[in-house]
Amino acid sequence: MLGFLLARMAVDVVVLEKHADFLRDFRGDTIHPSTLEIMYELGILEEFLKRPHQEVRQLAGQIGSETIAIADFSHLPTHCKFLGLMPQWDFLNFIAEQARPYPGFHLKMQAEVTDLLEESDRVTGVRAHTPTGTVEVRADLTVGADGRHSLVRERAGLSVLSLGAPMDVLWMRLSRKPTDPGQTFGRFDTGRILVLLNREDYWQIAYVIAKGTAHELRQRGLPALGEELARLAPFLRDRVPELSDWDDQIKLLTVAVDRLERWFRPGLLCIGDAAHAMSPIGGVGINLAIQDAVATANLLGEKLRQDTVTEGALEAVQRRRTFPTWATQRLQLAAQNNVIKKVLGSSKPLSPPWIVKLLGRWPWLRRIPARLVGVGFRPEHVKTPEVRGALL
Ligand SMILES: Cc1cc2nc3c(=O)[nH]c(=O)nc-3n(C[C@H](O)[C@H](O)[C@H](O)COP(=O)(O)OP(=O)(O)OC[C@H]3O[C@@H](n4cnc5c(N)ncnc54)[C@H](O)[C@@H]3O)c2cc1C
Repeated sequence: MLGFLLARMAVDVVVLEKHADFLRDFRGDTIHPSTLEIMYELGILEEFLKRPHQEVRQLAGQIGSETIAIADFSHLPTHCKFLGLMPQWDFLNFIAEQARPYPGFHLKMQAEVTDLLEESDRVTGVRAHTPTGTVEVRADLTVGADGRHSLVRERAGLSVLSLGAPMDVLWMRLSRKPTDPGQTFGRFDTGRILVLLNREDYWQIAYVIAKGTAHELRQRGLPALGEELARLAPFLRDRVPELSDWDDQIKLLTVAVDRLERWFRPGLLCIGDAAHAMSPIGGVGINLAIQDAVATANLLGEKLRQDTVTEGALEAVQRRRTFPTWATQRLQLAAQNNVIKKVLGSSKPLSPPWIVKLLGRWPWLRRIPARLVGVGFRPEHVKTPEVRGALL
């Protein structure tokens, strides 16, 4: 997204991606109303909505035996009053397609960054491994947007503040029947949490487990896992036998919540998960990463054009994005400690906490979680123009 925004304003950008394509393990399908709003501001929303996707207008949760509506996106102050669901690789391909017509945009696939280039304590680019050998890419600014296991942040020696998480998540999919419930929803029960995302012909399933217990679950085997899934969502009972190979069909997400104390060094900036890995609670990691990209383009785009990016300018990006990151992580940690930890550690039947009961009783209150998930804190807007001549 940052590459697209910068190329659009005639800044020369090289995006290095270590994989041959964007198709890989599931890592979130949510396209938030705020991201859709950014696409509206860029004039690409209509085209985007022509691509296969689902629209979620309400979120519900089942706690014990009670089903309660939790979030209602229909009142958001955005053009799209829904959460879009689209596989992340389709979304990334779409953004790359939009960026490609700009001559300043260079996307190099199968280019794995292995080290930083430095001169007198200033980062001047990266070294990358490609199928045709090692290449060096020199740049006025290197942006580490390489995710939660960022090599860039590690090589830059930026220190990480780890905030901890009590859970891990198993991701899998099972086929969906037209007679299944239509909603994307979460189910909380004694010691277990299950989240089901409706992807029309299949369910994308997140099975939340206590941290470090995946190995034990695996030893109990697929039939035992299937039984647990069927207990939480009985309509899936006839489909749990579809899970036949743990390695191929079940992915473990070891949840981490952290952030860098300093997001930059001379010549280098980290954004997205590389600057702050988010908990999956609320499914907001993609949103924050996109917002970081927009803020970075807004604050640095013109300076990059004029070759005047100072350390102060990099610090301004961190300052701008620290509050949304901090506030979102605070909420996620509160939910982890007060809800997730308790549910995963419980041995008695659950009933909804009073705050969730209020959401069920007062529909207007559901606008608050919708706002926090769908838009978040300090939403960014595209302030960078498409520069004449950027598009040949
Ligand atoms: C299983 C799972 C489920 C999730 N579910 C959701 C969800 O529902 N909603 C949500 O909002 N968020 C979700 N998240 C979080 C979300 O995926 C991230 O917050 C978001 O993708 C961060 O974007 P990013 O661009 O910073 O990093 P990433 O999306 O991780 O992108 C980093 C990119 O850099 C590439 N890369 C890494 N190292 C190198 C290297 N050395 N050289 C070159 N390229 C490299 C990677 O291949 C990758 O394409 C989930 C995460 C996981 C793992």
